[in-house]
Amino acid sequence: MSQKNSNDLQDLQYFGEYGGVNPSISDSSTYTFISAKTMFDTFEGNTEGCYLYSRHSSPSNLYLGEALAALEGTESANVTASGMGAITAVILQLCNAGDHIISSRTIYGGTYAFMKNFLIKFGIETTFLDITDLDAVAKAIGPKTKMIYCESVSNPLLEVADISALSRISKKNELPLIVDNTFSPLSVTPAKLGANIVIHSLTKFINGTSDCVAGVVCGTTEFCLGLKDVNNGAGMLLGSTLDSLRGASILKNMRTLHIRMKQHSENAMFLAKNFEKDGLRIVYPGLPSHPGHLIMGDQMNPEYGYGGLMTMDVGTLENANALMELMQERKLGYLAVSLGFYKTLFSAPGSSTSSEIPLKEQEEMGLGNGLIRFSIGLDDDIQRTYSIMKKCLTDLKILDNMGINA
Ligand SMILES: *Cc1c(COP(=O)(O)O)cnc(C)c1O
Repeated sequence: MSQKNSNDLQDLQYFGEYGGVNPSISDSSTYTFISAKTMFDTFEGNTEGCYLYSRHSSPSNLYLGEALAALEGTESANVTASGMGAITAVILQLCNAGDHIISSRTIYGGTYAFMKNFLIKFGIETTFLDITDLDAVAKAIGPKTKMIYCESVSNPLLEVADISALSRISKKNELPLIVDNTFSPLSVTPAKLGANIVIHSLTKFINGTSDCVAGVVCGTTEFCLGLKDVNNGAGMLLGSTLDSLRGASILKNMRTLHIRMKQHSENAMFLAKNFEKDGLRIVYPGLPSHPGHLIMGDQMNPEYGYGGLMTMDVGTLENANALMELMQERKLGYLAVSLGFYKTLFSAPGSSTSSEIPLKEQEEMGLGNGLIRFSIGLDDDIQRTYSIMKKCLTDLKILDNMGINA
């Protein structure tokens, strides 16, 4: 099934103030009014095309939001100062004290910590479960449940959520399905599969240059306006506003997203296939050995591939650390968290990005401490990258230590 939105994205055309090919940047926090009456109406949220104050909205952020709504096929989108700014605003907009959330147990560490440790202050409880177990999801729904939350391809274990099936459960129970699509922009279009709200950390693939932090909420116009409401909108009142200069630079980087995603996916597929053939334990949704391979195949836009993330389990944290240090020394990439950069980034999630998750729970979900998460870069000669990486593994005798004779 294809749900291609890149044409809508490409057809967006803006003109700058002097006919520039990029829209002019709105370098202002506040806006003037000719008439006092218009200012009052704008406060009330009634005046289309008028700006009041940049925490509420700004032309640059609206342009970026429009592009992201086209990307995700939603009516509207609000950009935020971080992915967490988007996630926390959505959850606090939809949940009241005492409510209940159903969430995948394999999610971004910050989201997990927010749900588990922070929402408790408001008596909001979260049931974390295996999101691929649809019966468990249906059974967990209770009278206080306000949403089903997951990631299309999860962090860090790359579990694939069956978004169409989850959306059938959520619709039947009149619950919104919230999907964080940070790992799979363009590859997966959750709204076309029935998700109600789609979230991204723009910090990752969408911006793609690891130079800023930003996020977005894509949804209906009603929901997005609600988030911006001056009296009770979580976006407006929690205040995670993206700066206009950043909004403008992210929009420019988005122009090459389709090319980058194809290259990230192609490179990751090459490495995943070859290292699996070598006998290493590789998790990559593009491999037939991945439990979510067929679901991913069904719900993706095939031209963008299976994404740029893969994991490799090298048995122990000592192996993982030695390998990551050597790969960095040999210029294969950086020992760094985050993802979606032109260089390969690698980290051991158990001791870094998922350290919010208690060790016992990490083990239960298959997050061994020898697991390395790779965000594969845009390398032009991936065969050469493979050879150098393989040499790192053999020089450290990791394959021998693991009883693999490749
Ligand atoms: C990074 C990330 C986030 C958080 O985004 P920030 O921009 O760092 O706030 C949320 N979800 C996923 C899947 C991420 O990878």
